[in-house]
Formats: sequence, structure tokens, C-alpha cells
Amino acid sequence: MKISTSLIRAVIIIILLIIVISDFFYIKYLEKKMNNITILTSEEDSMLAVKVSSFKEPVVVFTADFIDKFYHYSSPFKDGMDFNELIKKYIRNRWSDHYGCVRGTRERKRIHEGIDLFVSENTPVYPLTNFGIVTEVSDNPHYLVQVQYKKPNGIIDSMKIEYGKTIRILYPEGIESIYTHLNEVFVELNQAVDRNTVVGLTGLTGNIRNSGKPSHLHLELRDSENRSFDPRNRLRFEQNSAANFIKHINIGEE
Ligand SMILES: [Zn+2]
Repeated sequence: MKISTSLIRAVIIIILLIIVISDFFYIKYLEKKMNNITILTSEEDSMLAVKVSSFKEPVVVFTADFIDKFYHYSSPFKDGMDFNELIKKYIRNRWSDHYGCVRGTRERKRIHEGIDLFVSENTPVYPLTNFGIVTEVSDNPHYLVQVQYKKPNGIIDSMKIEYGKTIRILYPEGIESIYTHLNEVFVELNQAVDRNTVVGLTGLTGNIRNSGKPSHLHLELRDSENRSFDPRNRLRFEQNSAANFIKHINIGEE
């Protein structure tokens, strides 16, 4: 059977028309969907409710579901404890194991920038939330980390402290945890980890032997400016911290 060229032409035109018309309605449908999204944000001190279409810059929105799943911090051990329970159970002496205790000598006074959690040697350690990225790792038992100290005249200077085998993990909020004195590290730089990843084993590396203390996990929390803070004080959500996190992940682009 012979099909005329004009019939083929007509069929192609009809198909193209169908594609153009359905695309048009699909775009309308997507626009309607986008316009149903309102984002709460802030400008200086006031809260703004904005439609997606009015943003000129790329915007990343964390849904409540995402925050529930990935922002909840808990114990680095597989015991399901929150931070308060953790401190109660594993801190031996509140005058020497807490954040902020004075360390060093009269010439080089510094503060303890983490908490010391006394668990048995070779206890597996996990990330603090359900998603993280390894931002620093050292398998060197004499690994040195730069810390600040105060001279007797009040001047702040920095020195190196032997942290031993160390892992640093960045969480979606922009907060990082540092685990030190580990016997083993099982992760690599830039590796994505979740709550089921055994990142290392607690141990006795670093300056622990000068401290006279038995094996423990030294746990530090740092904000997006690399300032340590007391794990008992959870930070409020910071836009900068989220931006710091986003720098480390690949966001798919069309
Ligand atoms: Zn410590």
C-alpha cells in the first residue's frame, strides 16, 4: 500500500502539535505546583514569606521531614542516648572531663575543647546524625592539631597538640564533630557516612598517655567558624552553617 507524502507530513505535524500542546499544559501544571510553595525566610530581623518564583538566586529548602531525619544528634556509640544521657553516663569527673576545663601549664593555659567519654577501649564509634561527610581523617597515632592557648600576659597564641588518630565529620547543619585518641579509623576523606557507619574504634592514641587517663573518646563539636562549643548547648539553626554544608555536596542541576 502506498502512503502519500502529504499524509506523512500531516501525521508529523499533528504529532509535533500534540507535543507542543502537552508541553504547554505540563509547564502550566509545574508552575501551579511551584506557586503553591511558600518559603519562610528572613531579611535582617524580619520574617518573610516568599513564593518560589520570586527568588533570583538558587534556594535550598530543608523540609521538616529532612530536619527530623538528619538533624537529630545523638550518641557516637550504638546506645541511642541523647547528649545529656551520654554526659551523665560516660563522663567520669565533671571538673576535668567536661568542655571548658582548664588545661596546660601556667605559661600555656588552654581550655579542654571537647568532652571525654570513658568507654572501654575499641568501642565502635558512629556519626552523630543520620548523614555526614568526613572532612578530616588521620590514621597517624601522633597526629597534631593546632589549638589556641593563653600566655600569662593574656596574649592568645597557638600550639600543636597530639590528638592521635582523628576523624572529623560534617553534618547538614554545618556543625562538625571531632573524635580523637582512636585506635582505628575506618573511613576516608569526603566519604558519606550515616548512623550505621562504624567510623572508627576508641583507643589510646595521641597525648592521652601524658594525661594519666585511661582510654576514652575525646569528642569535640565545632560550628561553621571552627569554634568549639559545649555539647550541652545545641546551636540554633544558622544560615551560614547550612551554606557551609552545601559547599560540600553536589546539588543536581538540569
Ligand atoms: Zn579530651
